Amino acid sequence: MTIATDIQSPKIYNFAPWALSSSLCLAGFLYDWLTPLGVAGGLIYTVFILSGVFLDSNRIVFLFAGISSALTIFGYFHIPDSIVDTQWIIVLNRTMTIMVLWATAYLAYAIQQSLHKTKAAQAHTEAIIKSAIDSIVLINERGKILNFNPASIKLFGYSFNEAVGQNVKILMPEHYARQHDQFLDYYFKTGQERFMGENRQMIGKRKDGSEFPMDITVGKLTAGNQTHFIGIIRDISKRIEAEQARDQMINDLTKSNQALDDFAYIASHDLKEPLRGLANNAMFFAEDYAETLDEDGNKRIDRMCTLTKRMEKLIDNLLYFSRLGRQDLAIQQTNINDLIGEITGMIDTLIEEEAVQINIIKPLPSIICDRHRIAEVFRNLITNAIKYNDKPEKLIDIDFLPEKDGRENVFSVKDNGIGIAPEYHADIFKIFKRLNVEEEKARGTGVGLTFVQKIIERHKGEIWLESEPDLGTTFYFTINSREEDNDTA
Ligand code: ADP
Repeated sequence: MTIATDIQSPKIYNFAPWALSSSLCLAGFLYDWLTPLGVAGGLIYTVFILSGVFLDSNRIVFLFAGISSALTIFGYFHIPDSIVDTQWIIVLNRTMTIMVLWATAYLAYAIQQSLHKTKAAQAHTEAIIKSAIDSIVLINERGKILNFNPASIKLFGYSFNEAVGQNVKILMPEHYARQHDQFLDYYFKTGQERFMGENRQMIGKRKDGSEFPMDITVGKLTAGNQTHFIGIIRDISKRIEAEQARDQMINDLTKSNQALDDFAYIASHDLKEPLRGLANNAMFFAEDYAETLDEDGNKRIDRMCTLTKRMEKLIDNLLYFSRLGRQDLAIQQTNINDLIGEITGMIDTLIEEEAVQINIIKPLPSIICDRHRIAEVFRNLITNAIKYNDKPEKLIDIDFLPEKDGRENVFSVKDNGIGIAPEYHADIFKIFKRLNVEEEKARGTGVGLTFVQKIIERHKGEIWLESEPDLGTTFYFTINSREEDNDTA
């Protein structure tokens, strides 16, 4: 297989070159013998040397020049009856002949070298085309297929001989074939080629008629006055299938998340009613039968009241969590500096009591977000930074970084508190997960960070942390919501 029929090697390769060269050498000598002036024979020796170009040996042309020169000299000494009496004319003729023969040899050598280079470049290109995993199809200006590599044979199902010489339209469905005609027409009329070098998606057609999606890049190739187009084609059926499967999975996951949120809402909503009844009855029982019951009975009924209250709190949290996933965001332009000011204003007693110093490292930006939800995020992170801090002076730094860990526009809340061991970094975002069990009564319910994460997710952001036990923790998060997200997620 060759790149194109028009850049194949000269046909002379197919003849018996040695026989041709030998005959030319003999013919030159006979001619010299018959017309012994040395010039006519020299002309034939020139062709003899040129014939060496087509032999596979590198410097054979110089050997041929040597043989021709020797025969020319031999002719001078051994061919009798010279028709010219003046010796100097004969000597000059034969000397000039020999000079021309060597000049011809040099030219022939140069031609041979350039032919070898062309052949090597051609072999190189052929090897690349043959071993390419992409289909490569070469066509001329009329759309006729000139070359069809092994990957094309595998992809389209046509053999090399079946495809070469056919119009490239056999490789595309009707609709694209018409487009292709228009493309070539346009090229003929204007000389301008469209889509050159661009990667385009279209449909290919196999020999058996089946169709498949493909990526194609078309390049132009000009050799002399001929223009060819080279198409590099890749079957993208698998990629499209994978994309469809991924979309389907995302769809299914969204639906199942929605179903889970709905389930959590309905279950917790329905649980609330009997629980309320249980709590009320336990309370009435404690009030009305306190004197009838002994100390142990009263303790147990108190415990029952505490537990039902706790369960009510847990269910409320669950309800709120499911609502966070279900409710629309009220997206609006929000100045985070003002927001932090409002939050610290609401917890100013706590800040004073606990000797907290809140530093805004640099002015915080104004962003598009659900103002109340993002306030909840900052409130949770700030109160945690105070709660989980054993230092006499509690420091909280709030900052906005253009880049952090490969993410852009990152908010950070840093404290000098008790820190979190690395093994708990993922766990703390789980609902009802608390690390400081021994202080359970005084502390929260283990839902704050779960809500924070859910709110950040709803804003298409991410949250992560860096922490060192005893030194402190920094929470980082991004917010990527836009105006158009002002609908149900
Ligand atoms: P809660 O504060 O109600 O327990 P959270 O979900 O807010 O629940 O936090 C989960 C756990 O993560 C906490 O119990 C605490 O152990 C740990 N934690 C959260 N924030 C910090 C912090 N800034 N420093 C140290 N530990 C923290």
